[in-house]
Amino acid sequence: MPDWKQQPHRRFNPLTGDWVLVSPHRTQRPWQGQVEKSAAPAAQPYDPACYLCPGNARAGGMRNPPYTGTFVFENDFAALKPDIAPHHADQGGLIVARSERGTCRVVCFSPRHDLTVARMEVPEIRAVVDTWCGQYAEIGALDSIRYVQVFENRGEMMGASNPHPHCQIWANETLPNEVAREQAHQAAYLKGRGTCLLCDYLALEAAARERIVVENEAFTVLVPFWAVWPFEVLLVSKRHVGAMRDLDDPARTALADILKRLTTRYDNLFETSFPYTMGFHQRPTGREPHPEWHFHAHYYPPLLRSATVRKFMVGYEMLAAPQRDITPESAAARLREAPERHYLDG
Ligand SMILES: [Zn+2]
Ligand SMILES: [Zn+2]
Ligand SMILES: [Zn+2]
Repeated sequence: MPDWKQQPHRRFNPLTGDWVLVSPHRTQRPWQGQVEKSAAPAAQPYDPACYLCPGNARAGGMRNPPYTGTFVFENDFAALKPDIAPHHADQGGLIVARSERGTCRVVCFSPRHDLTVARMEVPEIRAVVDTWCGQYAEIGALDSIRYVQVFENRGEMMGASNPHPHCQIWANETLPNEVAREQAHQAAYLKGRGTCLLCDYLALEAAARERIVVENEAFTVLVPFWAVWPFEVLLVSKRHVGAMRDLDDPARTALADILKRLTTRYDNLFETSFPYTMGFHQRPTGREPHPEWHFHAHYYPPLLRSATVRKFMVGYEMLAAPQRDITPESAAARLREAPERHYLDG
């Protein structure tokens, strides 16, 4: 058995079929890279210049209502539109395009400009969970929609232009790349073994307990064996459910609880408002039951060793394969040991 804590090796991602190169011996090398400024947390509960705050005007000319909970609106500069005439182009299988219908919405988590999920109360996050479930049902009921992607970009480092706590929902008529790959691998696993890929994986992780960060009665958060980003985590429902809307009432509250506990640990790790991109993966909408799908979320944070030093996916990673130095096991240990109480709360 090789020493995986010391020797370079590859790890397999069974959800996508990708491999990641792990190089734990490199963590001692000196760092002379860029030092980035830490993003200051938003201080004001209301910002008159913010296009997401209640009552404010948006760039598209609309005005937000004086909302007091969550608030959903159609993206004023949507990447997808519902009323596109179908067309298809194909020149010898080399120049290929097809029309794509869809919709893009924005969900404000709170009227408070200065909050983040880590700083919201569990009942407030639970209201966001209920909004996500409602949106999945509403958008998923449209004939033109096959997949509903909920995602959040948090922090300037991830390109989030506005600190107001919000996420986006993009829904379209075909499965996006990542979702299609995960669906294919989950379906093949179910067909081959008669069991669910993520149920089986969760059982292995629960026995090993080496990569688990935090858990509650309904969810486990772990650094997956095949993680690419330094502090990447996978949030998995303990019960086999295909979509967030299949969660019962206690499990929805448990989801709100685990989201707060995870993001608090993230913030505490480097005592900064931890940037990330995250999103939920769940079964496609439509009539097929999709028993292979197991509801989960991915968090991909860019930070590597401090509030200012991030990982870049360049060079070998763009040309060949992703690579990491810090092992998923040590990343999980550091997140597990991060305090449960937010550093701003003293
Ligand atoms: Zn705002
Ligand atoms: Zn499952
Ligand atoms: Zn996934």
